[in-house]
Amino acid sequence: MKNIAIIGAGLTGLTTAFYLKRYGFNVCVYEKTDRCGGAMHTLHQDGFSFEAGPTTGVINSPEVFELFEDLNILDKINYADENAKKRLIWKNNSFHPLPSGPISAISTPLFSLKDKIKVLFEPFISKGNNEHENLAHLVKRRLGTSFLNYAIDPFIGGIYAGNPENLIPKYALPKLYNLEQEYGSFIKGAFTKARKKKNDREKKVSKKMFSFYGGFSSLINELVANIGEENILTQQKELKIEKQDDKYIINKESYDLIVSACPSTGFKESFAFLNEDEIDKLTNIKYAPVVQIALGFKNWDGIDLNAFGALVPSIEKRNVLGILFTSSFLKDRAPKDSILLSIFMGGTRNEAITKEDDDIILRKVIEEVNSMLKPKNAEINLSHIFRHKYAIPQYEITSKERFQAIKDIENKYSNFFVGGNIHNGIGIGDRIKQGNNIANKIASLNK
Ligand SMILES: Cc1cc2nc3c(=O)[nH]c(=O)nc-3n(C[C@H](O)[C@H](O)[C@H](O)COP(=O)(O)OP(=O)(O)OC[C@H]3O[C@@H](n4cnc5c(N)ncnc54)[C@H](O)[C@@H]3O)c2cc1C
Repeated sequence: MKNIAIIGAGLTGLTTAFYLKRYGFNVCVYEKTDRCGGAMHTLHQDGFSFEAGPTTGVINSPEVFELFEDLNILDKINYADENAKKRLIWKNNSFHPLPSGPISAISTPLFSLKDKIKVLFEPFISKGNNEHENLAHLVKRRLGTSFLNYAIDPFIGGIYAGNPENLIPKYALPKLYNLEQEYGSFIKGAFTKARKKKNDREKKVSKKMFSFYGGFSSLINELVANIGEENILTQQKELKIEKQDDKYIINKESYDLIVSACPSTGFKESFAFLNEDEIDKLTNIKYAPVVQIALGFKNWDGIDLNAFGALVPSIEKRNVLGILFTSSFLKDRAPKDSILLSIFMGGTRNEAITKEDDDIILRKVIEEVNSMLKPKNAEINLSHIFRHKYAIPQYEITSKERFQAIKDIENKYSNFFVGGNIHNGIGIGDRIKQGNNIANKIASLNK
């Protein structure tokens, strides 16, 4: 039976460990901090349940649903309320809903008339041939500047906390990139894919946003319970992984195989067997820093919060990236007389704000909430600030070299597998799929 060490107890590392254990391998997860979950961390206070990290995921691949089936926790999934799915976009001092159908698409003030007409001709625009065209350029070319400014830019602010000028669709949004490359058009591609007959496995995929009752820490707790706490070592601060012949050595323990599931910073800290050039290539990636603020209000009397949340385009030059109306779509998150907001600041748009002191951040966030959501007498009854220096990796132009380096390194060190969000996507669904894929690959190579 092979001994496998997994470095990092975030969602990627725990998913990998869960499946490897199911395949019958001996696993040991090494985690630097004193808890499991990495970015995923739910806190509870005064009847509120709030996230320090992700709030919802999407079941964007069968592997996501299958993990919940395999953990036997389908009944613990808390789907976001469909009645609160509206997305608001800030423009000229007020919020406007993102169009959800043809009539609202015509009447919305978010996009210019010229671009609304341009979209009708999108299927006839020839496909791009620069694989490294940036996202801003791609969107301007196919949809127009107002779609970039008031749809894609705020969406990218919400997902990547990043800048469409720097993200490369081939790496950052491969599904969008492939629509143009395979079908010649976003619209044609989306229609064709929607009409395609789905097999039973594909039917597990949905656009539904989900969390878990009790928050994402419930998912982490289930994974930990299944892996076995005895197989997870936390507080591994000075971890060094050496290679001796065909074994990997950690604190005198010998392993046949090793999986990295940590952010790029972990390679320099712990992977002593990699050379400087390999580490440089793996760590040549920018992370957007994010500050997340959980804010609760008693007796809310501001604007109607019956929506998923609000996104703020960079062109509007506000201090927030976006606001999730968390208690509107996840009903277990606030006491009956209260509401819960999750507010995001910083990103590549405004890194300076992430370095401000807590009192300044709190003052600025309250100013923004007062001016945008307009509460009058509602009383703040919860406030927590969470800082993420390495929140979201940016899949920029450097990704090509990094992805190649990962392949080269895995070929050179045959029993070393590189996981984590430096490749294969940044979302919860991507992390689960990658963890599952790595475990399957190891199992098939070691039959
Ligand atoms: C604020 C925030 C909000 C987000 N919101 C969403 C969302 O709404 N929806 C969504 O789909 N995604 C969201 N994401 C992204 C998603 O949460 C992450 O991509 C995902 O959780 C990352 O999982 P991971 O296991 O790859 O990495 P991590 O969660 O970062 O886990 C890596 C682990 O490795 C450990 N580690 C680091 N270095 C070492 C070392 N040298 N030795 C041992 N251990 C080490 C870390 O301590 C950590 O526990 C968000 C991320 C952030 C930060």
